[in-house]
Formats: sequence, C-alpha cells, structure tokens
Amino acid sequence: MGLYVIIMGVQGAGKGTQAAYIQAQYGIPQVSTGDLFRAMKTREDELARRVQDIMNAGLLVPDEVTNEVLQDRLEQADAAGGVILDGYPRNIAQAEWLAQYLTGRGESLSAVILLELDAFTAFKRAFGRVQSPSSGQMFNIYSEAERLTWQAVPHPGGEYPPRIEATDTQTGEALARRSDDADAASVVKRIDTFYAATQPLVDYYRERGVLVSVNADQPVEAVSAAIKSELDRIQSGG
Ligand code: AMP
Repeated sequence: MGLYVIIMGVQGAGKGTQAAYIQAQYGIPQVSTGDLFRAMKTREDELARRVQDIMNAGLLVPDEVTNEVLQDRLEQADAAGGVILDGYPRNIAQAEWLAQYLTGRGESLSAVILLELDAFTAFKRAFGRVQSPSSGQMFNIYSEAERLTWQAVPHPGGEYPPRIEATDTQTGEALARRSDDADAASVVKRIDTFYAATQPLVDYYRERGVLVSVNADQPVEAVSAAIKSELDRIQSGG
C-alpha cells in the first residue's frame, strides 16, 4: 500500500515546511495542484490558456480538469509509492473523486493532516512577516523580536493599522513586506476564506476517521515529530 497524505493548513501554519519534511522522511513527492496549473503557463494549447484565465480571475479550475491533471501526475513513476497532496481537494466532489480513484487502484487515503493554528496566530504570522531583499530569508517581527528592530509608522491619512518598517539588527538591512501581507484587511480575508472553504472537508474527513490534527503553534521540529509519530502509527497499521 502506498502512503497517500493530504496536508491542509492556513497560511502561516507551516504547510510547505512540513510537506518538505514528509517528502524527505517518507520518499513520496509533494503534489500541489496549484503548482501543476502554474507549470501549464508555458503551454500554448486551449486548455492551458483556459486554466490561466481561471487562475488569473481567482476562481477554481473545474473539477473535471483538476481531476484529470491530478490523475496524470499520480500515474507518474515517482508517485507509485504515494504522494503528499497540497491544495487538493478543494471541495467534497474532489474528495469523492480521489477516494474512488484510489479505490480503483487498490489504494486508499492514509491520512489528512490538518495543521491547526488559531486565526489570531495565523494573522500575526502573516502580518508580521518581513523578508531580506538580498538573501530572501524570512523573519517575523513578533517571534524574532530579538533579531529585528521595527516600528509602526502612521499612514499620512491616519488609516489603521499603521505601516511597519523593520530592520535586521545584525546587518542593518531594511526588510521588506509582501504587499498582500502589509494590508491587514486582506490578510484577515485570506484567513477567513481558508477556514470557510476548509471546514466542510475537515468535517468530511473527520467523519471518515482519517483526520489527523496537529498543533501547528509549536516549534517546527515539534510539529514534524508529531506528524512522524502519526504517520508511523498509520503505516504500521496501528
Ligand atoms: P494554490 O497554489 O493552491 O493557491 O492554487 C492556485 C490556483 O490554482 C487556485 O486559485 C485555483 O485557480 C487553482 N487550483 C489549485 N488547486 C485547485 C483545485 N484543487 N481545484 C480547483 N482549482 C485549483
């Protein structure tokens, strides 16, 4: 039996880091439907163009197209022992398709890992994120306060919240924020949208006994260890 794992988590929960950990630990590739669609950018055909238009409009790609693209990926040689799915399923219909597809291959879903993070912590992680323009390294003004100096600078028009300016105290470099992280309202909206869209899937998988909740509000290594202990238990049939 392969190891088929879905990983879900709000932005800031550490999904990318933990997916990379699972990939290294269990030798199964990470499959992100968003990445698969982005990779179609270089293609010139009608389907690829349609997918680009849909993504640019911020909409979901139709299920038939998504499932077909995913199936194609799941049937590649490196995925024979299973995969970590990221960004899929986005709805119950996709979840049902996946279940049927795996059954057809004599496989089944091993676990759905939900990296649990409360909305306020998720907000602080996204809103407090700053990046070194030279090295790309990310910092957080809240959790790495000793490494940074930062100040809130009022907007000329007095809008709330004020802008944040941060400096790396070791190098003196001014750190930059992603524009969509700097806008508090858009961070809140992104987080709200995630919880609303994910809840039906969380309920669906909980009912089927495959949901594994992991507390994401702890150090990276502790989250990885919790994931490993659950996946090891599942793999040994425990
Ligand atoms: P992501 O990188 O997961 O945020 O995905 C980027 C975009 O790809 C989304 O906004 C959708 O347009 C599309 N997409 C990714 N995964 C799916 C999916 N499972 N179902 C439908 N559309 C998807």
